[in-house]
Amino acid sequence: MPSDLKNLAVHTMTNKPWSLRQCVDAYTKAGVSGISVWRNVIEPIGIDEAAKILKGSGLIVPALVRGGFFPASTSDDRQKAIDENRKIIDEAAAIGAEMVVLVVGAVPGMPLAEARKHVADGIGALLPQAVDRNVKLAIEPLHPMYAGDKSCINRMREAREVCEQLRSRMVGIAVDVYHVWWDPDLQAEIEMAGKQHTLFGLHICDWRLNTRDLLTDRGLMGDGCIDIATICGWARDAGFDGMDEVEVFSDTYWAMDQDEYLKLIVERYQALNI
Ligand code: ZN
Repeated sequence: MPSDLKNLAVHTMTNKPWSLRQCVDAYTKAGVSGISVWRNVIEPIGIDEAAKILKGSGLIVPALVRGGFFPASTSDDRQKAIDENRKIIDEAAAIGAEMVVLVVGAVPGMPLAEARKHVADGIGALLPQAVDRNVKLAIEPLHPMYAGDKSCINRMREAREVCEQLRSRMVGIAVDVYHVWWDPDLQAEIEMAGKQHTLFGLHICDWRLNTRDLLTDRGLMGDGCIDIATICGWARDAGFDGMDEVEVFSDTYWAMDQDEYLKLIVERYQALNI
C-alpha cells in the first residue's frame, strides 16, 4: 500500500452505486485505508453481515453516518429521535466505527436557538451509552443553506458551544470543508477544537462555483474553490490524527464508472499532497 494513502478514507456514499461489499473490495484493492459507512448500505444486508464484511477487511472505520435530527416540536418526537440514535450507536459499535456523525437537525419555523437546545439535550441523553459502547459522537456543522430544515448548527462555533456545554470526551466535531470553508473563524476554531480534544473527523470534497444542486452537486477535490490542503494543515497542526475522509455527493460522479471514479479520487487526493 502506498504510504501516502495511510490517512485516506472514503465514505460509501461517495460511491453510491456500490454495495458495502463492492466498496470494501474496491477500496482495499486501491490502497485506501479507511471506509466511513452510511447506513443505507447496511440496510439491505443487516448489521451482522455488515460487521462481518468490515471486520474481515482490514479497513479502518472512522465513522458511521449518520445520526442526529434531534429537534422536534413534541417531546414524544424528541424521544423517538433519541431512541433512533441509540440504535445507531449500537450499530456503530457493531461495525467497529470510531464515531457516529451527527447531522443535528432543524425544524422549519422553530427558532435556531431553541433547536440547538434540543440538540444539546438529545446528545446529553445519549452520553452514557456512547461511553459504554466507546463510540464518539461528532457534531457536523452544515452550511447555512441547510439551516432551515437539516441543521441548526452551521459554524464551528455553535458546535463548540454544545461540546463545551456537555464536556464529555465522547462529544466533538466533524469538520467538513464543504460546509465550513467560508467561516472567517475557521482556523481559530480548528485550533481551539484541537486544544479541547474535540477534533474528531475531517471530511473533504470541493465547492463547485456553479453549484447546480444544494445536495447532489459537490465537487471532488480540485473541482472547486476550497483550499483543502490549507484547512487539512490547520487540523494536523491542531493535533488532529484521524483520517482524511472523502465524502462527495454528486449525480455526475455517481453516473461514472465507479472503478474509474475511485482512481480519480485517489489521484486527486494524492495531488493535495497532505
Ligand atoms: Zn460530511
